Amino acid sequence: MFSFEEIKKIRKQFPILKKNNIIYFDNAATTQKPLKVINAIKKYYCNFNYNVNRSFNFLGKISTKYLELSRNNIKSFINAKSIEEIIFTSGTTESLNLIAYCISKFINSYDEIIISHSEHHSNIIPWQVLSQKNKATLKVIPVNSEGELNLRIFNKIITKKTKLISISHVTNTFGIINPIKKLIKTAHKYNSLVLIDGSQAISHITIDVQNLDCDFYVFSSHKMYGPNGLGILYGKKKFLDKFPPYKCGGGMIEKVTFKQTRFSGLPFKLEAGTPNLAGIIGTNKALNFLGNYSPRKINTYETKLLKYALKILSNIKGMNFYYKNSKMTKILSFNIENIHSFDLGKLLNNYGLAVRTGKHCAQPIMDYLKINGTIRLSFAIYNTIEEIDIFYNYLIKCLYFFYKRG
Ligand code: PMP
Repeated sequence: MFSFEEIKKIRKQFPILKKNNIIYFDNAATTQKPLKVINAIKKYYCNFNYNVNRSFNFLGKISTKYLELSRNNIKSFINAKSIEEIIFTSGTTESLNLIAYCISKFINSYDEIIISHSEHHSNIIPWQVLSQKNKATLKVIPVNSEGELNLRIFNKIITKKTKLISISHVTNTFGIINPIKKLIKTAHKYNSLVLIDGSQAISHITIDVQNLDCDFYVFSSHKMYGPNGLGILYGKKKFLDKFPPYKCGGGMIEKVTFKQTRFSGLPFKLEAGTPNLAGIIGTNKALNFLGNYSPRKINTYETKLLKYALKILSNIKGMNFYYKNSKMTKILSFNIENIHSFDLGKLLNNYGLAVRTGKHCAQPIMDYLKINGTIRLSFAIYNTIEEIDIFYNYLIKCLYFFYKRG
């Protein structure tokens, strides 16, 4: 468990927390960036900004070296087998779209794709579009009353025709940790591929893709203290090798003639164009930052924050949590009876409390629960119990306002 002093030291590394005097509880949307990451990006632009892989001048050599160093560190961070399995994209959304595009030629009519009821739109729409285009069937695993995947139904809907299962590791709405290892094991018995959307897990849970045996794992750097606009797509080499190029252009070819193009091998085949090297370097520094703390320690601390928030907010009349169980991590979603989440969120924002309100890009699960949205608190390594106390006090103030009015 982190000591008070350790958290104080961590907080000092985040300039935005000092500057704005805010309580930032919207880490599921994006995490703040430590100075280390910001400085690495600045250093890149000040000292060796250049393109990669395309030139042997000294700037090109340095930038290429940093690109490959970062790729190698990401490979180790998630325990991939080789650097060819690490593809840089612009984010989770692009990674999911890339896989949907590339896998399309292997999905035939009457094949099946399975997702869950709790997915983020970016893990719904690409599969919906692909299913409609290829006349495949999109199946959905429902959730039970605890917000967990209904595995009994999953076991019923998976068949020999299932080609892909795409599931979040941790849901962005309610912070439920899905039993992905179990799902992967079952899916492989049916010869189905499994893609894990790790956006909400990557900074909280140790990811070992070989141990999980997932076929693809995707995440965004900006949700793990890294910069915006950089995503990582992990895929088993044997499947990525079969992927056609997703985008075509510079950096992904061996030979081009007007008749034909011979493409590069992995990972370059899937990385056309100038890479976001500043983002890649910043991501490497974010890994460096995270590497200072054991994932178990981070998870224990964030779970402590979650449990404390659950306890203290339980005192509020009309409080409705989604959900309240042991399979949750770092995200707490709730509504208060007769108050619209948007109105409450707006008022909280006036007190410098940054929380997220709305449907969190997950309309199907909100429709299923028959709600317009929730107020979502999501914690990170720099949040504190004191912040939760302050939040609670302001929340009570806001509620007085609503009750007085209504
Ligand atoms: N999946 C999940 C579970 C998410 O939480 C998010 C971001 N809210 C995304 C996908 C999309 O990530 P990005 O916007 O970084 O592409």
